[in-house]
Amino acid sequence: MIVTEKPILILGAGLSGLYAALQLRHAGRQVLLVEARPRPGGRILSESPHGPGHSADMGPGWYWPEMNPRMAALVRQLGLADYPQYEAGARLREDADGTIQTLRHSWFAQPESRRLVGGMQALVAALVAQLGPAVLQLDTRASALSLTPDGVEVEVSQRDTLHMIRAAAVISTLPPRLLANAVRMTPPVSSGLRQRWQETPTWMAGQAKFVAAYDQPFWRTAGLSGDVSSQRGPMVEIHDASNEAGTVALLFGFIGVPAQIRQQLGEAGLQQRAINQLARLFGPEAQTPSWTALKDWAQDPYTATQQDQQPLHQHPYYGHTALPEAWAGHLMLAGTEFAPDMGGYLEGALAAADAAVATLLAGT
Ligand SMILES: Cc1cc2nc3c(=O)[nH]c(=O)nc-3n(C[C@H](O)[C@H](O)[C@H](O)COP(=O)(O)OP(=O)(O)OC[C@H]3O[C@@H](n4cnc5c(N)ncnc54)[C@H](O)[C@@H]3O)c2cc1C
Repeated sequence: MIVTEKPILILGAGLSGLYAALQLRHAGRQVLLVEARPRPGGRILSESPHGPGHSADMGPGWYWPEMNPRMAALVRQLGLADYPQYEAGARLREDADGTIQTLRHSWFAQPESRRLVGGMQALVAALVAQLGPAVLQLDTRASALSLTPDGVEVEVSQRDTLHMIRAAAVISTLPPRLLANAVRMTPPVSSGLRQRWQETPTWMAGQAKFVAAYDQPFWRTAGLSGDVSSQRGPMVEIHDASNEAGTVALLFGFIGVPAQIRQQLGEAGLQQRAINQLARLFGPEAQTPSWTALKDWAQDPYTATQQDQQPLHQHPYYGHTALPEAWAGHLMLAGTEFAPDMGGYLEGALAAADAAVATLLAGT
């Protein structure tokens, strides 16, 4: 057992954890981020069809500057470039019986949705660059928190080896279900609170996204925006995810098939059905993408639990951050599902980090 000393420990290096770390660093505090995955970013994941340059967002792809003031400020502060979601041209509607209708106008998202140049991963890369590599321990899974007279002892495992980290305080950015299921707490929280965490769905955890790359955005030249709503599937909603110039041509869709059926179909079967759907909608050119990717978040244990396999029918209520008296000032809850507002979204991940950092700094 190795013992490491660090003042403030953040669990999870998704957007909320990375942003909380940056805020604490700006406040002159020492931080350490422990992340279970071998990469930072959490639900932010961009895959690259053609090496460096534009990437396909397998997690979040949009932010809405008018509704997301923290995201807009962070994008500016980090010097990142963005561009509007491509929406010029007609959209398609595919009915359950296979009828395809061309509707004259695209969805004009109100307020405007924007994408980051390089994909949402550019945000993660810029935050990691500001923090420096020493702050981030990847492949490090937190499994227990114990209150001590002078702080919190955190049990973490790195490739089956247990370590103990002593922290002055902890900010957890884990989704409530993962916190309830995967982290033992001493003293424990009440069974009622644990149950509330278990009942709080992790936003988009049951979703899967498919992306296909092409040599040209041929749908644009045919007067189509790439927007589709489909009752036939497997994708229920499709959009253009190309770079701004259209030189990296991408279509992506949200798979509407429930998680259990996705598993039965298998990745190759699902991908083929998605390609066939694109060919039905956009013609034979769509049958031969140069690259494809599928990300099934419901199968990712650092996002989804068994309870997240059921599709969500509405946006849940988030924002319960109350903890028992004993933990006050020692453990702060961040992560988008604990956000005071915009819970579930990237903006919520930042709002929750701001609130947790403010509480921590006010108490020390
Ligand atoms: C398919 C999809 C599309 C989306 N689209 C959008 C969009 O367009 N716009 C938008 O605003 N939002 C969107 N979202 C939601 C957005 O991704 C989230 O709001 C945001 O990324 C949450 O960030 P977070 O840091 O709170 O949580 P997470 O990103 O989930 O970070 C939590 C971190 O904790 C780590 N972790 C888990 N367990 C442990 C452990 N035991 N020990 C250590 N680390 C652990 C995880 O690996 C992860 O890195 C989408 C999400 C998905 C999945």
